[in-house]
Amino acid sequence: MDKIQCQGCGAEIQTTHPELPGFAPESALQKEDVICKRCFRLQNYNEVQDIPFNDDDFLEMLNQISHNQGLIIQLVDIFDFNGSFISGLKRLTGNNPVILVGNKIDVLPKSVNPNKLKDWLRRSAKQQGLQVEGVYLISAEKNLGVEELAKVLDKERKEKDVYIVGTTNVGKSTFINTLIQNTSGIKEAITTSYFPGTTLGFIDIPLDEKSSLYDTPGVIQRHQMAHYVSDKDLKLITPRKEVKPKVYQLNEKQTLFFGGLARLDFEAGERTSFICYFSNELPIHRTKLEKAEELYENQIGKLLSPPNDKTLKQLPSLTGRTFKINEKKTDIVFSGLGWVTIPEGNVSVTAYVPEGVKVSLRDSLI
Ligand code: GDP
Repeated sequence: MDKIQCQGCGAEIQTTHPELPGFAPESALQKEDVICKRCFRLQNYNEVQDIPFNDDDFLEMLNQISHNQGLIIQLVDIFDFNGSFISGLKRLTGNNPVILVGNKIDVLPKSVNPNKLKDWLRRSAKQQGLQVEGVYLISAEKNLGVEELAKVLDKERKEKDVYIVGTTNVGKSTFINTLIQNTSGIKEAITTSYFPGTTLGFIDIPLDEKSSLYDTPGVIQRHQMAHYVSDKDLKLITPRKEVKPKVYQLNEKQTLFFGGLARLDFEAGERTSFICYFSNELPIHRTKLEKAEELYENQIGKLLSPPNDKTLKQLPSLTGRTFKINEKKTDIVFSGLGWVTIPEGNVSVTAYVPEGVKVSLRDSLI
């Protein structure tokens, strides 16, 4: 059988191992655009089948790029920089120039200053050992900034290949679909979904006679919140619309719960406002610190939801980290969920997330 690639995910089509990537029944091979069973189910029933690829396979595939020449576009989810940034990218992709692209700006509150955000992205990348040629902000879904970026790519690639890399769920497929749609008018050229790990193998899109744009496999980062929650909860915590900040005036010894997925204790400091940026659908509960433990024990999965029952079965327990914040206006970032801005002043807080998920501080973006 000649090699055929799935039009959805790029995996090589095979008809012998239903449990492996690229499986399609013989009958599917008669069609002009062959897609694997997994993509078929995803497109038609919105169902996801687990893939037996492990993280090492993905990294190995990415590593192939270091042997080629081209421009690398690292896509990150600006709502989840820590979860979606690939820190070992230099090692994985050799000395090829990298452009950093922050996707999903449509969900950011309008008050975020784009230049501050770009500076912050550039600095954060540098801190993690990656010097980037440029930083761009886009919304792949809303087609914001994509045409401008396409022009930059065309110039900067210097007639070489372009590789789109990113962790699962940052919007690579959506971005490539938008690019293709802008130039050819074809919609939904490749499969996208809410679910991590949709893109398998390399997808090759010709740019000219000699060079191509490659969609690479999504690297799976275990500390992405997406891996700990059910599909339904993932939909709920993933902002779909512009995030509306919610403000809480807190006294010390008060606690905020973000559903039951994260918690922030105001340990010490003057009365101050905590400005919360999360999916508009994620309920936030305020309680006294002394009652927080009991509330959690009794209400996890009920009042404090998400997690739903399915997520609860796989969710690691919450672990806390204490931060002392001095003077500067600071964001406490709950990777994959959102962030809380604390105005200038001296405060001490403890932030809880499921073990394995990251919490970090940054200078406020707003
Ligand atoms: P991939 O795994 O990197 O290929 O990511 P997908 O393209 O499948 O996108 C993952 C999820 O993010 C899907 O639910 C998309 O609808 C969503 N998404 C992608 N781009 C954007 C964007 O610009 N804005 C918003 N709000 N959501 C996006």
